Amino acid sequence: MPELRQNIITGDWVVIAPERAKRPQDFIIPKSVKVSDKTKCPFCVDSEGFKANKKNMKADHKDIYVIENRYPAFVEDESKKSIRSFYPEKGFYRARASVGDHEVVVIKDHDLNLLSFPKPLLDNLFEIMRERYIWIKEHEKVVSIMPIYNHGAESGASIDHPHAQIFASGIISNTVGQEIDGADTYYGVNGACIYCDIINHELKEKIRVIAENDNFVAIEFYASRFPFETWILPKNHQSQFEETTKQNMLLFSEIVFESLAMLNKTLDNPPLNFYIHTLPVIHKDSASYHWHMEILPRLSTFGGFELGSEIIINVMPPEEAAHYLKSPKRD
Ligand SMILES: [Zn+2]
Ligand SMILES: [Zn+2]
Ligand SMILES: [Zn+2]
Repeated sequence: MPELRQNIITGDWVVIAPERAKRPQDFIIPKSVKVSDKTKCPFCVDSEGFKANKKNMKADHKDIYVIENRYPAFVEDESKKSIRSFYPEKGFYRARASVGDHEVVVIKDHDLNLLSFPKPLLDNLFEIMRERYIWIKEHEKVVSIMPIYNHGAESGASIDHPHAQIFASGIISNTVGQEIDGADTYYGVNGACIYCDIINHELKEKIRVIAENDNFVAIEFYASRFPFETWILPKNHQSQFEETTKQNMLLFSEIVFESLAMLNKTLDNPPLNFYIHTLPVIHKDSASYHWHMEILPRLSTFGGFELGSEIIINVMPPEEAAHYLKSPKRD
């Protein structure tokens, strides 16, 4: 059973999940995770691994299926449904059972690449992610849910078969917690959503906007931690990802599709992560928080200063990144 442990100095949470790797050599990073023999790929529907795991299937669509993660970070366990804290080691440290849900949204075709998914497939991916999000919200006793995607070995993808993941847990993540606090403070002072204000500012300045449609905008984030860090936000104030209408989800998919194509054209299939930051499901609605997607190309690694200070040195100004992305060809 994975365990949530709190850093009692900073308040940040970590998940200790020993089931994922058992021996020190399991930590050695493989050069490539390419599986050429698809019978050995645990996500290919003809493989032995898939057959063994098939009972954990949550949904099955034409080109995508959803399955329970085999080594979940957050576990659905009826006997451990309590999300109350406990204090191990003579009441000194703070920990919780790592309850929740951890699903994998698998694209059936092993050979497809996120950066060049056909548009209808991306539409289906986001629609299914939203469906699963709502299902988990309605059926599981969780506090927050985060859909994510890892692309490429450098992004932490341990299986080279296209798949997204949905993490649902009994806590609010460190980052979303910080964002909510910052947004609340801004709202208290200015009486406005900070994300709405960022959007208004960026649409006026037009130096970091890379794409726009009726309902969404994609920008290179002003204080980017990563080169080509791209944020996608709904233009109208909306705090909850799952409240997006089907129609708007297509516009969301469209701008993600365009942004990925730009990143692919400029950076030639970069490893990247994306995730959706949205209001924790225990909150009803929020005038100060605004859901969004962050896309992080993983072209740089963190050194001691970055890890020691959490102050990231980014060598690519977002204004220049926007210029490169909008150029008709690589330069
Ligand atoms: Zn596969
Ligand atoms: Zn807003
Ligand atoms: Zn965010």
